[in-house]
Amino acid sequence: MPGEPQGDCLFCKIVEGHIPATIIRETDTTVAFRDINPQAPTHVLVIPKAHYETAAVLAAAAPELAADVLRETQAVADDEKLESYRTVFNTGSGAGQTVWHAHAHVIGGRGLHWPPG
Ligand code: IMP
Repeated sequence: MPGEPQGDCLFCKIVEGHIPATIIRETDTTVAFRDINPQAPTHVLVIPKAHYETAAVLAAAAPELAADVLRETQAVADDEKLESYRTVFNTGSGAGQTVWHAHAHVIGGRGLHWPPG
């Protein structure tokens, strides 16, 4: 069921504190933690605490929660003092999604090229 914790989901386990993560921000509905394989000086993931497989499912099922996630990406950028940064939602394996719990990447602290690979 969308929104319900999934026992086999890595990010649900981080939310529940069963897997360690470097958490830098937390709200009632979201958690932000450093990516384990950073692609830039700042690489933070912002996730909803509730489980939705993709950003598309999240936006359709819980738009206010999707807005919470977006607000937190800006808060991370402010905390990290990023003037420029990129917010990325990989949706689907063809786009590089590997963890099936919606998450926004906040990437910054270096020059970023466009288009991305
Ligand atoms: P995706 O490829 O867009 O699904 O992003 C998943 C991200 O999760 C990747 O950038 C991984 O490096 C990151 N990741 C995987 N496992 C962990 C973890 O245990 N802690 C923090 N980040 C993780």
